[in-house]
Amino acid sequence: MKNFNFLIYNSKKFSNDTSKDIFGSLKSLKSGNSNNEINMGIRLNSDTPSSNENYQRYMKLITGNKEYVAEKMKENPDYFRNLAKTQTPKYLLIGCSDSRVPPNEITKTNPGEISLLRNIANQVNHSDLNCMSVIQYAVENLGINHIIVMGHTHCGGIKAANEKKYLGLIQQWLTPIKDMAIQNKDELLNQTDKVDFIERLTEINVKMQCLNVCKTPFVQKAWKEGRDINVSGWLMDIETGLIKDLTITNEEWNDIKSVYDYNF
Ligand SMILES: [Zn+2]
Repeated sequence: MKNFNFLIYNSKKFSNDTSKDIFGSLKSLKSGNSNNEINMGIRLNSDTPSSNENYQRYMKLITGNKEYVAEKMKENPDYFRNLAKTQTPKYLLIGCSDSRVPPNEITKTNPGEISLLRNIANQVNHSDLNCMSVIQYAVENLGINHIIVMGHTHCGGIKAANEKKYLGLIQQWLTPIKDMAIQNKDELLNQTDKVDFIERLTEINVKMQCLNVCKTPFVQKAWKEGRDINVSGWLMDIETGLIKDLTITNEEWNDIKSVYDYNF
């Protein structure tokens, strides 16, 4: 039996100005906490038994974090202090949740350089509040210049969309990929085997998600304002580690633009 204390949010000093943030407003309700410093921590105490192996697996992350911090501090003692000041990423990358395609690592970029959204099979769904909020924030607040949709080979999401096995909610999430298969059936049927078929469907999915990015009012408004924002589609090959630019062309957007554009 083990007890784990998970500290999710460290105590911090917050502003006391009630007009600026929720913390200030809550303070004004006089909940009884009169200190300027408040512990915002959420602590979960679990009595769930865990095997030693599982505990070691968990601790690997905590130990790894300590080593990571030590290495960074050795290179530059101000590294995290500088990182905390602000973020000015120039890229938004929408990728798959797959554990084998870590965007920063495969592009040799650092924290602060790429704003990220990841979901199963890198979908850009206009009814997904999460995705739409991330794109709007990246375009209107972070001032990014590049939106990249990155798919990858051996994608479990694409394979699941190809299968008829009942998987619950995930099949609903992947329904747009089935729709794409029908819309592009002539091209897909030209593929000689299932591996090629899956890879081509993966590429088509990336291109369709890029067009979904273009369809958002935030991106279109930014373009009308003369902002320099590029939309790109990538296929990351897990077997080689290399990224292939799928060269999304203006023509592909221009063909459908008149249906989706807005009068701002
Ligand atoms: Zn995937």
